[in-house]
Amino acid sequence: MNFLTDEENERYQRQIVLKSIGKEGQELLKKSRVAIVGLGGLGSISAMYLASMGVGFIRLIDKDVVEVSNLQRQILYTVHDLASPKVEVAKSRLEAMNPYCKVEPLSVFVSPKNIKEIVEGVDLVIDGLDSFSSRFVVNKACVQKNIPYVFGGVLGTLGNTSTFIPYDDSPCLECIFSKVRDEELETTETAGVHPSIIGIISCIQISEAVRIITGKKPLLKGKLLFGDLENLDFQSIEIVKNPSCPTCSKKRP
Ligand SMILES: [Zn+2]
Repeated sequence: MNFLTDEENERYQRQIVLKSIGKEGQELLKKSRVAIVGLGGLGSISAMYLASMGVGFIRLIDKDVVEVSNLQRQILYTVHDLASPKVEVAKSRLEAMNPYCKVEPLSVFVSPKNIKEIVEGVDLVIDGLDSFSSRFVVNKACVQKNIPYVFGGVLGTLGNTSTFIPYDDSPCLECIFSKVRDEELETTETAGVHPSIIGIISCIQISEAVRIITGKKPLLKGKLLFGDLENLDFQSIEIVKNPSCPTCSKKRP
């Protein structure tokens, strides 16, 4: 059932010839199920590339409608979509880009009440959120259900990203960010955000997601990558499990 049709072979030819994907990897992409939480700047790009690349099922989670101030960076949407729910607009656009990708829209805010439904049956979760309180909810569910979580965050000209693999003894989001409080952080509304850093960070998230789906080691497991467009400085630091992490230290073996 995961075999590729002739049309799919042609559609994906430029990545099937890549050693890192190949036909087997393409079939794994077709079989894969991904949740993208948050459909702003980061989530728009992740959704478009993963749909184009042939991920078979994408669940989109976002409660917002399209606003004019989104259009500078959230490249899934146009002026014709203003006031429409992002997940509905995204579903029709993504399925038009690639009819082989099935898209499930969930127009909800991420909360402890619905997180089970959000992560149910997916192979990995991609972060497109803009608050740590929501991310902690997602992270906790991913730790409990052993689902890889590809984190990404952007502000101003800065971005960071990491890949958390609960079943592979990697640190989780709260191992490194548990003390972060949203009230103490600037937002893109006050600090702005450069679309270029969104593109860079989301494309790294996509690369990590494809590595996980195709059975390769994600390169940001146990690492946090920082980037700044102002000096084009990109560095990664090693991160380790926090033995008193409120989320993953309590997990039963
Ligand atoms: Zn942890």
